[in-house]
Amino acid sequence: MFSIIKSVVIKKSPRRKRTVSAKLVDGVMEVLAPANISKADLDKVIENLKRRIENKKKKAEINRDSQLPRRAEELNKKYFKGQLRFNRIEYSVIQRKRFGTCELRNGTIYINECLRKMPQWVEDYVIIHELTHLVCPGHDRRFWQLVRRYPKAERAIGYLMAKGIKETT
Ligand SMILES: [Zn+2]
Repeated sequence: MFSIIKSVVIKKSPRRKRTVSAKLVDGVMEVLAPANISKADLDKVIENLKRRIENKKKKAEINRDSQLPRRAEELNKKYFKGQLRFNRIEYSVIQRKRFGTCELRNGTIYINECLRKMPQWVEDYVIIHELTHLVCPGHDRRFWQLVRRYPKAERAIGYLMAKGIKETT
């Protein structure tokens, strides 16, 4: 992937004790670090910060023209009479072990961005799975009864298992 960070400028300050901070200005990552930090530690911190900045940017780009909210509303209408309420549904770029998550406390559903490259009926299954958690937090019988109203649920579960990522939560 094309990197949005063109260069890194490190400013060391003796007044900084431990923390390293960074901001991105016109493609230049400005890093403020304590004067006594070792090169190895600094490299590690910069790598992490870079990854976070790149992920944030990637996430914003992926979600900018995402079809997810429209898709989720269609599935909400089709399977839940449009009665489900959630705040946001968006792609996540960092959940590697999960296909989706539903955070009930803030009504946000995250869908792993890797689903974008899979068939629509597989992504629909994950959306339905997470939507169902809005009314059934656990994976009990009632939960699976609701999810299996989607005709391709079993097929999608098999498809995702073959991909090797743990599971949808
Ligand atoms: Zn689940």
